[in-house]
Amino acid sequence: MVYVKDGAPIIGVNALHHPNRQRFTIAHELGHYMLHRELLSSEVHVDKQFKILMRDTNSSTGTDAIEIEANKFAAELLLPSFLIDDLLANSTFDIDDPEPLEKLAKKFRVSKQMLEYKMRG
Ligand SMILES: [Zn+2]
Repeated sequence: MVYVKDGAPIIGVNALHHPNRQRFTIAHELGHYMLHRELLSSEVHVDKQFKILMRDTNSSTGTDAIEIEANKFAAELLLPSFLIDDLLANSTFDIDDPEPLEKLAKKFRVSKQMLEYKMRG
């Protein structure tokens, strides 16, 4: 969750979650703070469960659009495109081979799903 109190942003994470999940949560909430600050002055934004919302679909609601933006922000923060582009340009990385994908996800401390999402662009 994230909220703003007396002008100061406060982000809360569940300490029982996997560290990668906590990193993603913090990045996601930072996204809300950077992109949707006006919403946070009047309410506490609580994210209970992250849906895999990265791409806009026809069925996306207004709330979904905000979550998609925060997810994109988090993905870019944790896995900057310039690093991914570099990696793909300078190696024979096979995105369909699960082993190097897993290694790389560990290195970046993100989920395999997120790495795959970023790599497939
Ligand atoms: Zn959110």
